[in-house]
Amino acid sequence: MVRRSARNAAKEPATTTTTTTTTDPHEEAIKTETNGAEADSEELKQRNKRKASASEPKPQSVDSPEADSPEEEESKPEPKKRKTTSSTKLSSQQEQTEMPLAPRTAVNTLRRAMYIGAHVSAAGGVHNSIPNAIHIGANAFALFLKSQRKWTSPPLADDAKNQFHALIKQHGYDATKHVVPHASYLINLAQADAAKAKQAYDCFLDDLKRCEALGIGLYNFHPGSAGPGGDMKAACGRIAAQLNKAIKATKSVVVLLENMCGSGNVVGGRFEELADIISQVEDKSRIGVCLDTCHAFTAGYDLRTPEAFAQTLAEFDRTIGLKYLKALHLNDSKAPYHSNRDLHANIGTGFLGLRAFHNIMNCPTLENLPMVLETPIEEKDAKGKTVENKQIWADEIKLLESLIGMDVESEEFNRLECELQKKGAAERRRIEEQVEKKATKEKKKLDGGKKERGAMDAFVVKKKGEGEA
Ligand SMILES: [Zn+2]
Ligand SMILES: [Zn+2]
Repeated sequence: MVRRSARNAAKEPATTTTTTTTTDPHEEAIKTETNGAEADSEELKQRNKRKASASEPKPQSVDSPEADSPEEEESKPEPKKRKTTSSTKLSSQQEQTEMPLAPRTAVNTLRRAMYIGAHVSAAGGVHNSIPNAIHIGANAFALFLKSQRKWTSPPLADDAKNQFHALIKQHGYDATKHVVPHASYLINLAQADAAKAKQAYDCFLDDLKRCEALGIGLYNFHPGSAGPGGDMKAACGRIAAQLNKAIKATKSVVVLLENMCGSGNVVGGRFEELADIISQVEDKSRIGVCLDTCHAFTAGYDLRTPEAFAQTLAEFDRTIGLKYLKALHLNDSKAPYHSNRDLHANIGTGFLGLRAFHNIMNCPTLENLPMVLETPIEEKDAKGKTVENKQIWADEIKLLESLIGMDVESEEFNRLECELQKKGAAERRRIEEQVEKKATKEKKKLDGGKKERGAMDAFVVKKKGEGEA
């Protein structure tokens, strides 16, 4: 894997260093109140800590709008500033597209029709997602349609919409199939509280309408959280009811439930839960699933060996139906199998390992589906500042494409597999220790509880016996 050359690094547009966000949606979430959507506080704290350092200095200039507010720039009324912005944007776009970190592979030259990309930034307007995708050689991509941390955003600007359509056409992306926006984390369609449920619904519907205005055919979201008490069945019912309403209010976009890692009361860790929601959706042509490999693995669906992978796909087919599988998120996992933790790792460096991705890349069932990387790309630069290195995605896309048809017994595969596992070893160990510690703590708590209960039971029995005697 070639790292970015100094020349390319220098050529990277100035805006790149300031558009620090929208890389890994799972790392994004969260600073705001989440409408009950996400859980694991320990992980959130870690991510927020990292995010805070990652997004520190943002030069205030018209050329670098707030990364998380894709539409904000367009909504500013001052025409003069806007002109400056768009001409600068254009040259930045040109650089992105003319000097990519890696060229896009023509899918028809691959032995299997695999459309691989990443969740790219849409800072400055949704249209910017396209040069950002081209920059890393992506044949499919995800983006946020608006700020994922705010409940309301300015309407989709005509200029951004028109540029999106023009660029999609110019660069030959199929927006109906290979562009999969990710919903805001604020949205929890399982919300039981009426006012909060309406807020979530409005935000969701607004996103679906944006998809349709942009000619986008798929939209991916986290099913939601069942809330205190965790009645999954009732939560699935509420999600389906919201979906039925939103589907009726729109024309064509297919909504994709993302499988989750099965922590706490989050809906979607089990395939059965997704199937339950789908069974209650009236228009089956408008519902599907986006399979996240990291979530599946830590939820207990193995993908590592060809046999385990086939078994997981068979289980998906049996419970949900493979015809509903419309997109994939390709992430390795820093956390071990069945740990219910959501920590994305770079391809091949995690507990899934390169073999799992070899299984995926050689699976005919998955051909033509959009495959989106949500792997970490933050690195420390020479001064210790956290910066994004998009070369990582460019390299991962090429790595995944190279796995198509690769012999797993070959020296090349073995070398790659070993190199990548070695690279991720320290991080795997660190997270594994965390997981083990937590498990021991919980076991102790459970055992302690049992002992106490046991002592109490014995006491009650003894008392009872005394009384009877
Ligand atoms: Zn997601
Ligand atoms: Zn995902």
